[in-house]
Amino acid sequence: MSDYSCYNFQTKLLHHKHKTDPITGAVSVPMHLSSTFHQEDLDHFGKYDYSRSANPTREALEEQISNLEGGCRGFAFSSGMAAISTAFLLLSQGDHVVISEDVYGGTFRMVTEVLTRLGITHTFVDMTDLDAVEKAIRTNTKAFYIETPSNPLLKVTDIQAVSELAKEQGALTFVDNTFLTPALQQPLSLGADVVLHSATKFLAGHSDLVAGLAAVKDEELADRLYFLQNSFGAVLGVQDAWLLMRGLKTLYVRLRHSSEAAGKLADYLNHHPLVKKVHYPGLKEHSGYQLQRQQAEGPGAVFSFELESEQLVRPFTSHLQIPVLAVSLGAVESILSYPAKMSHAAMPEHERRKRGITNTLFRFSAGLEDPEDLIADFEFALAQSTIQALAK
Ligand SMILES: *Cc1c(COP(=O)(O)O)cnc(C)c1O
Repeated sequence: MSDYSCYNFQTKLLHHKHKTDPITGAVSVPMHLSSTFHQEDLDHFGKYDYSRSANPTREALEEQISNLEGGCRGFAFSSGMAAISTAFLLLSQGDHVVISEDVYGGTFRMVTEVLTRLGITHTFVDMTDLDAVEKAIRTNTKAFYIETPSNPLLKVTDIQAVSELAKEQGALTFVDNTFLTPALQQPLSLGADVVLHSATKFLAGHSDLVAGLAAVKDEELADRLYFLQNSFGAVLGVQDAWLLMRGLKTLYVRLRHSSEAAGKLADYLNHHPLVKKVHYPGLKEHSGYQLQRQQAEGPGAVFSFELESEQLVRPFTSHLQIPVLAVSLGAVESILSYPAKMSHAAMPEHERRKRGITNTLFRFSAGLEDPEDLIADFEFALAQSTIQALAK
């Protein structure tokens, strides 16, 4: 068998152990739509017995994410939240988590409203401030949970520095790598223990499925996470596993195009008089610009921006033609979202305000459109919204 590990990332997306089916030569992974597996006899059980425990199609995907993240084992879940929630089950009653203050709204909800009931406490910190991270550590801190760049303000956390603090403490480091994917950032190589994904976003990439992935680099931790995946049971279905593997093949080209488009549009908006601020780690004035260059291969395809006034918000959204106005990100079509009412709706208003998630803030995820068309669309919508706001 060939050694696929020597390939660069882009090639690894296509050429891996499962690129052809050994029995038929089929060039896509077979969809094994089977919940159970026949056993030869009572004394000789095969590798597979029941699809919650293992399914060959899902397993191909799990091996692929592990490959791409540089791990030893991967896991596929029914959603990003299922992956994140299952990873949190590595903790026990009495444990404490130090967590990025501007995490995804669903993660915020899980930590504040579910884990607390199970006796797992937390402290939200600005993870970009290592002194604050250190101050948040308690004797029972067992995990550090990082989202970088963060959602929706794109703050950049030093994965290596936080992982080192975690190791001194004997705690695990979890990184939600949804925004960048292993094409741009590989947290396991920076010292993280568990990398998590909403594969619904860039990894699948086509707004047509909901899925979660995890990868780890330590065998013992892999055994523990496998036990939890099988016990909790929030596994990814076979058809979605197949569709996700298809999406993955184009991850590199999609992300390269979308990042370039995001860069152009962010730059355009950064100079627009109706835009108060653009948050994008690809802009030189962004506080995380240098760190992002050190720890990742690029700034990614997502940025957020604030309009000058709340009066502009509604006319702007109604005049924009190209992006879909929706929750989610990381798709072939550009997506504009309004965090205060979408991704962070699960967060109480005072918590949102503390985190800078104002009512003038938008998040934009660049798709595969021509960036010139996107810029023209934004130009038109901003011009129209000034006219409407002035007319009031
Ligand atoms: C969407 C998202 C999640 C949750 O994933 P689902 O697939 O929607 O369950 C978690 N983290 C980030 C950063 C996300 O964008």
